[in-house]
Amino acid sequence: MERIVMVGASLAALRAAETLRGEGFDGSVTLVGAEAHRPYDRPPLSKKLLAGEWEPDRVALRKADAFDALDVEWCLGVAATGLDLAGRTVALADGSEVPFDGLVLACGARPKALPGVPFTEPAAAADARPLVTALRTLDDSLALRARLASGDQRVVVIGAGFIGLEVAATARGLGNDVVVLEGASAPLIRALGAEMGAAVSAFHADHGVEIRCDVRVAGVDASGVRFEPVDGVSEVVPADVVVVGIGVEPATDWLEGSGLELRDGVVCDATLAARGAPEGVPVFAAGDVARWPNELFDEEMRVEHWTNAAEQGMVAAKALLSCATGEEPGPYAPVPFFWSDQYDRRIQFLGRASADDDVQIVSGAVDDRKFLALFGREGRLRGALGLNVPKLLMPHRALLEQRISWDDALARVE
Ligand SMILES: Cc1cc2nc3c(=O)[nH]c(=O)nc-3n(C[C@H](O)[C@H](O)[C@H](O)COP(=O)(O)OP(=O)(O)OC[C@H]3O[C@@H](n4cnc5c(N)ncnc54)[C@H](O)[C@@H]3O)c2cc1C
Repeated sequence: MERIVMVGASLAALRAAETLRGEGFDGSVTLVGAEAHRPYDRPPLSKKLLAGEWEPDRVALRKADAFDALDVEWCLGVAATGLDLAGRTVALADGSEVPFDGLVLACGARPKALPGVPFTEPAAAADARPLVTALRTLDDSLALRARLASGDQRVVVIGAGFIGLEVAATARGLGNDVVVLEGASAPLIRALGAEMGAAVSAFHADHGVEIRCDVRVAGVDASGVRFEPVDGVSEVVPADVVVVGIGVEPATDWLEGSGLELRDGVVCDATLAARGAPEGVPVFAAGDVARWPNELFDEEMRVEHWTNAAEQGMVAAKALLSCATGEEPGPYAPVPFFWSDQYDRRIQFLGRASADDDVQIVSGAVDDRKFLALFGREGRLRGALGLNVPKLLMPHRALLEQRISWDDALARVE
């Protein structure tokens, strides 16, 4: 194996490239990235960078000399448009082709748009009333921060997921008026369930941010955002800025027809090898784009969080190298982890929640805005959520790895 290509030039791809070099791979490594930037960190885009506390140079994932030392070829500002597995080439938007012996798909995910609500063109972002934007890229964050900095904007966030709520907290912290509109009955329902979602609503209310749940957004125009509560009459909330945070979709459009199995992501086996690649053509996926069976949780999953992208980049690179040596790579079966910072609160979650979990607060209380909650399902501990209790939370990683029973997890706390 002499030529390894990564499609995507962000966190997962960077970690994969660093792992290849760390393991002694001295062939060529090419990172193809649709964005013009070298890999940068996305979490600050909704937090410190958006708040104006950090400047863009702080979000670079490495200093310039560390990027240079990797000795990789950067194909930036150009998207991959097609994959020929038999010919082992990736086609690029500029008409060129990049040949590979091994491929890592690390092309992440893109924000979904609301039907009938187009995003504002970047050139119009400064003056648009309202500005309608998602938040995924450095450029999105800088355009949004230019508008929020004045502190006098009426901001409507559509979607009470993590990114929407972080934007709400940051925008409010700058003094703007913020309303969040959510279609489900509670914020963060998919990630944390209804009860814990309500706990998150409570500390947004402390800061004067109203989260209106059970509403359907009907449209956006110069008067603001029109929405309909499920059991009420249509209302309009005025808006200077509208942030659409209704989720992302994996960036797999360019892989259609390649022969790879695609289903809400690149479908992989337990080692992150992409399904559908012909025998002898090593293709792995990593990060937000990868869907794989996590054997620890007996569940196929696609995870849209930082730690997963970083770890999978490393795992995919090692698995790729093991193809060359004939070794069998092991399954990737981690305890998923994420964090989210909103106001002065840090939410951290280990494991995997689902809507029908038993949820029990085992330390602290929602009213204290500080607690540890455990999530159980089918007799097993499935997750642990901490709000400003990192030391209490972290030991649960080992318990989740051990597949501890729900009863034992509760008894341990008692
Ligand atoms: C605003 C924001 C805040 C976040 N905060 C947190 C947090 O607090 N905690 C947490 O755990 N996680 C957080 N995340 C999630 C975390 O940043 C992502 O999980 C992580 O960035 C995923 O990395 P990735 O390398 O898989 O994909 P991405 O970072 O999405 O990068 C994929 C790259 O591939 C490029 N690409 C796509 N298609 C093509 C193509 N055809 N050709 C070439 N290039 C292509 C994209 O342009 C992009 O640059 C946040 C994400 C965002 C957007």
